[in-house]
Amino acid sequence: MKLAIWGLLWMDVEREGSPERIIARCEQSGIETYLAYVNPMERCSLGMWPAVTYRATVFQAETRDLMTPLLKEASKQGVAVEPWLLPFESAPLVGETPERLAARSYQPAAMLGLGPDGRKADPSAAKKAGKRLCPTWAENRQRGIVILKDMIEHHGTQLAGIHMDCIRYGDVEMCWEDPCHCEACRKEYRNAFGKDVITAEELELPGFRYKFVEFRARCVRSLVEEMRDITRKAGLRLTMAARAQFFDYALPEGQDWPQWARDGLVDIVFAMNYSTDRSEHRGRVELHASLMKNKGKALHFDGVGKKSSIGENSTENLVTYARDALDAGADGICIYHYAALKDEDFAAVKTLNS
Ligand SMILES: [Zn+2]
Repeated sequence: MKLAIWGLLWMDVEREGSPERIIARCEQSGIETYLAYVNPMERCSLGMWPAVTYRATVFQAETRDLMTPLLKEASKQGVAVEPWLLPFESAPLVGETPERLAARSYQPAAMLGLGPDGRKADPSAAKKAGKRLCPTWAENRQRGIVILKDMIEHHGTQLAGIHMDCIRYGDVEMCWEDPCHCEACRKEYRNAFGKDVITAEELELPGFRYKFVEFRARCVRSLVEEMRDITRKAGLRLTMAARAQFFDYALPEGQDWPQWARDGLVDIVFAMNYSTDRSEHRGRVELHASLMKNKGKALHFDGVGKKSSIGENSTENLVTYARDALDAGADGICIYHYAALKDEDFAAVKTLNS
């Protein structure tokens, strides 16, 4: 049985008192892999660690290195550690300005005065803009490479791998209704549709949808391919947190993870299932297992949520859902997230190995 856990490193250190104790608990609970979120920054609701929590030199933010002691203990205990890497959501890099980042973020047409009826920016459009960097920009994708090389330079020999998170567009809520009209997307629209501005009505046409998803998939995949080359040379595995709603979310956001697995681009797909409804959870993992049927050497781990934005699972359900997933064909289980587990949850997780 293969067992992994996602953790928010700074929060887990707050809970345990030291990075070493995270590793000790993983080891005692039969958890082989700890996937560490290391880049809280302004998205950190606690406000306790407004810094990057590993030895990075590419960010403007202060760094507090929790990784070095974590990795030292991990190599002693035989626990694999992979930091999350978020190309499109991380803290500003050295040399980046808020203005440039804003221009390279999701831009509703109305923000640019490009709406089909010439409407001006409205407050709701402004609210949606600039939340996430748009992967259509080569410059945004290149951030992933810069962060990756820096991670490898500082911790590479002790990492088990790199865990890609949010490796996709982040706009599925609005992409069909109000597609991005940033400069880079408009350039793609000119190639695909022969014009700068596209509408929700046009995106209902199958051919429009096909071309729209096609260029997005190409953009995201090109970054994964480059990261694959670099991690392979460094002797590291490349894994990912995958959207569980495959047809609704993953594909429109350019994240064709079963294809990436088949093509040898990723070593482990961790599907963020997290559902608190047993039949929904089971249905998803069955779909994922069938999508991953020809996955080559890649592994498929089902993500079981203890506590996530979707809701909370009891200790009993955590174990039941994990067993369901293995029964449905998953190669392993990954739990979300470390700090949400109580002592009894860790004890229950340990029984999964028996
Ligand atoms: Zn865009």
